[in-house]
Amino acid sequence: MPYPPPAVKPEVVINDLTDRQLDAYLAVREIAIDTETLGLNPLRDRLCLVQLCDRDGRATLIRIARRADASTPAPRLKRLLESPKILKVFHFARFDLATLRHHLGIVVAPVYCTRTASKIARTYTERHGLKDLALDLLDVEMDKSMRNTDWSAPALIAAQIEYAAADVSMLLQLKDRLNAMLEREGRMDLALECFGVIPTIARLDLAGYRDVFEH
Ligand code: MN
Repeated sequence: MPYPPPAVKPEVVINDLTDRQLDAYLAVREIAIDTETLGLNPLRDRLCLVQLCDRDGRATLIRIARRADASTPAPRLKRLLESPKILKVFHFARFDLATLRHHLGIVVAPVYCTRTASKIARTYTERHGLKDLALDLLDVEMDKSMRNTDWSAPALIAAQIEYAAADVSMLLQLKDRLNAMLEREGRMDLALECFGVIPTIARLDLAGYRDVFEH
């Protein structure tokens, strides 16, 4: 029987980290991060939630209120996500980077993507979803039933909070497992190069470019 995701108890805050949360996260070397939005088009669909988790299981959910002015609305989160000393670990960073850049003016770096790492390391399968990785690499069964829910609702229900925290609670362990596979197969250099171009790809996505490397 697979295990459930680790039980993390997130703090929920509005629009930005507190000073205390920022100080705690600035002291670590890597942080897991995910976002929830109103849909899959960053230009149309606003950013509703940013989830963070460190290796000690310190999890924070930042609810982002709708607003007309998007000029640096989350300065503490921006400082954390733009800090060159802290690796930001996503699953499918391309999307999250685009929405964080468009809605909060945050240019995230440096970046690690467990989906990209999986595609480079796990060439024996085409299953690279977070649920697939959790089951295959950690023997954890994720419940994805809250995925397509209203993240802009006035109050999040307990199941949404649990789901949102679960999405970031295993990314650092997955990174460890994927890095071991990348090292074993001599594919780490290639993965690192790929992570380096994800911010550029996210920027191209926002600017409306498609396939600029194609003939
Ligand atoms: Mn998520």
